[in-house]
Amino acid sequence: MLKFCLVIDSERFISFGQINPRWNSWDKIKGKINSVVKRFRYNYDGFNIIYRSVLENKFPATFMLVGKFFKPINSPDFIDWGYHTHNHLPLTLLDDEKVKREIKNIYKAKSFCPPLWMVESERNPNRIFKMLEKESYKRVIYKGEDREHANKNNFAINPLIRRGKLDLIHVSNTFEGNSSKKYMSLLFKDIADNLEKDAVYCVCTHDFTHKNSHNLLKLISFLRRLERDKKIKISNVKNV
Ligand SMILES: [Zn+2]
Repeated sequence: MLKFCLVIDSERFISFGQINPRWNSWDKIKGKINSVVKRFRYNYDGFNIIYRSVLENKFPATFMLVGKFFKPINSPDFIDWGYHTHNHLPLTLLDDEKVKREIKNIYKAKSFCPPLWMVESERNPNRIFKMLEKESYKRVIYKGEDREHANKNNFAINPLIRRGKLDLIHVSNTFEGNSSKKYMSLLFKDIADNLEKDAVYCVCTHDFTHKNSHNLLKLISFLRRLERDKKIKISNVKNV
């Protein structure tokens, strides 16, 4: 049976001030415009909308917290508090000392999501994983090998991938609070098309794109229907 998990990267507007190392010059211009209009287009407090919705629906979810802004809240067990580093920097481009500071497991989290999914560099694939192991993380969100400045990542629907003492969970898809109706239908279709797989379907989203709970609630009710029909098992990252 297909397993499903929802990951929410909780980072407010931190990425707007940062240059994504994979951007070309056109992307950089778009990034600057986005940063100027961020208060209109996005929601600094999107976290609250998502947190309230998953709590009300008792929906298992993993919040990956940027430590600079967030700390875990007392919550039921279906909420998993993971870590998304302290300052949201691309780990594969930092030296060991900086990586250590960024990933320090201050909340004793089991789950970890690397910013920009940059965790396995081509030149030194195990470096960051080894350091994550030392910090006692167990589960890491993964999007394939990373060629640093080249965008080589991909979506996949895989079983857990064992890497040393870690389990990697491959990102299967993403959606945002402002994704279109058509985009959401394609996401639902993709989930429905893969129900027979003995694998994990991992969907990631970002807190700051959610101005309302519309897309999230649609996703939750779609998945609950599949769950009632015993076609899917929903859990958080820690328990998947
Ligand atoms: Zn992020």
